[in-house]
Amino acid sequence: MATIAAPEDLPLGISLPPGNPHGVSVHLPKWADTVGWASREPRVLNAMKTGYPRFFIPRVVDRLAMQLLDMQQRSAGETGDREKGTTKLAIVLDSVGHAQACRKTLPAWSDPASKRFSAADIGVYVVSWEGRITPVEAVDGVPGDGDIESAVTVGNEDIVLVTYPAELAAEAKAFWQHTGFGISSRRATHWLEHAPFLSTAPPDPGSMPAPAEIARQAEQARSTLKSRIAAGQSSAEDNLEVSPSDVFLFPTGMTAIAEIAAAIKSLRRATPDNPYRVAVFGFLYVDTYKVLHRVLGFEPTLFHATADAITALEAMLNPSAPSPTIPSNPLLQAPDLARLRALATRHAIPLVVDDTVGTHAALRLLAACDVACTSLTKMFSGACDVMGGAAVLNPRGWGNWFWADVVRMEANSRDFAARVRAASGNAARVADMLRRSGCVREVFYPQGSPTQAMYDRFRREGGGYGFLLSVRFAAPARAVAFYDALDVAKGPSLGTNFTLCCAYTLLAHYRELEWAAEYGVVEDLVRISVGLEEWAWLEERVGRALRAAEGWCLVDRETTPRDRNWGITLSWALPLLEGLLPPELVPQLQACQPDVSLSVASAGEQGVLIRDGATGATKIRVRYPGGIRRMQIQKTKRVLAAGLRLKRGKRLVSLSYGGDNDDSRATVTAHFADGTAETGTVVVGADGGASQVRRCLLGEAAAAQEVLPYAFMNFPFRLPADRARWLDAVMNPSVDVAPHPKGMYMGLFLLDKPDLDRPETWLFYLLVTWPIATREDEENTGNRLERLRAHMDGWADPYRSVVQWLADDVAIGTDQLRIWHPKPWDNRGGRVTLAGDAAHSMTFHRGQGGNLAIKDADEFVKRMVEVQEGRRSLKAAMDEYDRGVVERGQEVEISKQQAAAFHDYANFDSSPVFKMGIKPAGS
Ligand SMILES: Cc1cc2nc3c(=O)[nH]c(=O)nc-3n(C[C@H](O)[C@H](O)[C@H](O)COP(=O)(O)OP(=O)(O)OC[C@H]3O[C@@H](n4cnc5c(N)ncnc54)[C@H](O)[C@@H]3O)c2cc1C
Repeated sequence: MATIAAPEDLPLGISLPPGNPHGVSVHLPKWADTVGWASREPRVLNAMKTGYPRFFIPRVVDRLAMQLLDMQQRSAGETGDREKGTTKLAIVLDSVGHAQACRKTLPAWSDPASKRFSAADIGVYVVSWEGRITPVEAVDGVPGDGDIESAVTVGNEDIVLVTYPAELAAEAKAFWQHTGFGISSRRATHWLEHAPFLSTAPPDPGSMPAPAEIARQAEQARSTLKSRIAAGQSSAEDNLEVSPSDVFLFPTGMTAIAEIAAAIKSLRRATPDNPYRVAVFGFLYVDTYKVLHRVLGFEPTLFHATADAITALEAMLNPSAPSPTIPSNPLLQAPDLARLRALATRHAIPLVVDDTVGTHAALRLLAACDVACTSLTKMFSGACDVMGGAAVLNPRGWGNWFWADVVRMEANSRDFAARVRAASGNAARVADMLRRSGCVREVFYPQGSPTQAMYDRFRREGGGYGFLLSVRFAAPARAVAFYDALDVAKGPSLGTNFTLCCAYTLLAHYRELEWAAEYGVVEDLVRISVGLEEWAWLEERVGRALRAAEGWCLVDRETTPRDRNWGITLSWALPLLEGLLPPELVPQLQACQPDVSLSVASAGEQGVLIRDGATGATKIRVRYPGGIRRMQIQKTKRVLAAGLRLKRGKRLVSLSYGGDNDDSRATVTAHFADGTAETGTVVVGADGGASQVRRCLLGEAAAAQEVLPYAFMNFPFRLPADRARWLDAVMNPSVDVAPHPKGMYMGLFLLDKPDLDRPETWLFYLLVTWPIATREDEENTGNRLERLRAHMDGWADPYRSVVQWLADDVAIGTDQLRIWHPKPWDNRGGRVTLAGDAAHSMTFHRGQGGNLAIKDADEFVKRMVEVQEGRRSLKAAMDEYDRGVVERGQEVEISKQQAAAFHDYANFDSSPVFKMGIKPAGS
């Protein structure tokens, strides 16, 4: 029943379950790993320790094959020579009949027109436990056309070596994959460790049970399995009692399907007018299609699991066998089996169902079909470490299931029904979670699917809706983000006790993506086989992955909120911010204020105060009837970041691009100093005035900021309680600033009131600028307090007293006033843009930077909604957004004029603040 506690720690290519030499899946933690596996990328292939045993010939099986080939060639006096094209390779299969099928198939698949290879080039040898290698003659006929077993006597322990020219390696691999006729890793290991002629270790009588004991264990396991499956398939409701003798066991699920198909084929001879045909409902598992079509010569026709499709089948000629997987894999649809049953009865067509996904624990399908095929490798075993298959009723079984695999399967499957129930319960909850997410387009799960009624008709009392589901996300990049962030085991196979996710279409149909997409099996489909983990464990992981898929990832180079802190006045952009936030967060804005007791209305009423620095008298007070809100930078970051997926300590250093600008699947990757990266469709550089994203877009020179010629100090301070109370009473609560006739600017602000009742805890800050006049100003020397005090003559209160009261050791950091005028950038097909200070950095003298940053966010969201709703292409939306950002950037120049005006007392009254207030340009 083992689940995997920390799948996120597993490396690429490790066997699943980890450490199990017979694991039947392999971990592919990132989407790019699946693409790499499917496209044969060396990085991924070299990391593969193992693989799904049909997709990847287990290394131990290959080693056995090569040793046996070597022996066979030496005993026959053959030598391979690649240059002459006589190099041979080999695979080991489980029966002579399967080897004969292979012998027929490989030359037919190579290049039949050239007739370069024939059955004579394929060697078939029975290898006995003692090391006797007996060649098997070729026989006529094609697989499934009749008995092509050989006259050679094959013992239970024997295995069959098939040798073939190296040029047919691809065909041999395909045969291995489609049919599942290869021997298991457990069997190969057993041979290499114990076969007297192979084992290098001295014989150890205790290491292996005696032959009689093996036979007893195997027989017991086999008969228990048959009884278990027969009991599971029986159904009192249908008055169906299945006998163990109706259950046939096979070494793999694929073998069960191939044998049933071959048995059906043998019922009649094909004619040109009436070939072997099979109608398949619901999308078909890739190798089922291939084995039926490529190995057994059926002409499969695929049908969707819809009523129309059955009507279409009715209109067709008699097929050999309609063959649905119920529910289908990977789209989890259920065709109308009752209607198919009636159709099959009317036309005397065998009806075969694959119930691997649904399982007989949840569904009673057998009463409605002729044969039920199952891959026991999946949930029946659950442990993901043994292959097996079964067909129930009437087949002519062949194949040779290795005894130790049978014993293992029997032990694994003891609690099958309970496990199906538990995993189904988890899967239904995962399906619910996924369906609630805005970034999911469709969840394929029998419950809640359009074909649920068909499924329900055969659902056992208390039977669930299965452990398997597939998901299509709103965009391919979201599927990738979800897959990459889902910390569960990831790889081929399904029906494992631990949750196992895969990029299904890439794994199964990498070379026929368009064809699969026609049946709804789209490239970015994510399939999850839900396991038996505690619900809280699963819920947390699926939730985290969903948040990753929700379309964004937030990174910041800071590990904790910055040491620098100040406040900003949100005025005209406040309603935009409130509209952007989820409603439940809007009340939290109060907690972001320096003074949490100040109301928006009162702040608006007292507005922005500009005094005469020499007298302290009001020059102008701008009021805001709609209210304004002071926001402290650090508090805002802390409060609004709560619950967000913010990755800290990620300093962006460069960007790279995947695909062409006009490719709808184009990506952009942000690379960070710690070596990690994030890939998505759009990068928004909201990385402040010195933006690195801007440098990536425009180059160092064009992205460089202009330094304005002012000395600049921005620092916090505390005062004793009585003075703090006095200052708080006389200063304007939001903005209290002044130009001085001698060409100097000062602003007094509250930064924080950690304890409203204890004024000594209150934190204020001063902003001071004056035109650089001395060398010390120029070099911004460390004697900043001294220089500030030297500038204070002629200042009125509250500024004068405050500077006098500053502690001598007050910390004043180095600062500069820097601006950047936006210029258009190439957004790489809509993949990169800028926002906030990165796009337009300005001085604070008109209080516009933060408001414009919110406006950028508002515009960006609107454009993205248009893209999401399909109203605009990403490129068109981003072009428009970028135009707006650059236009808004004219504020940089206006703020620059305002900065100059604060230092030009005589002309201050004609500055932008007087003419425009603090409204944005163009409003
Ligand atoms: C003293 C002062 C007073 C102001 N008063 C007002 C006001 O009253 N009203 C107003 O509207 N505006 C005001 N502003 C302007 C306002 O603060 C800014 O416009 C606003 O903070 C810009 O926000 P931003 O998110 O674009 O940039 P920032 O707030 O600078 O945030 C940038 C973020 O990017 C991160 N970052 C930087 N480089 C990297 C990298 N390479 N990789 C990863 N992360 C990175 C930083 O850590 C930071 O978290 C004031 C500014 C100052 C300095």
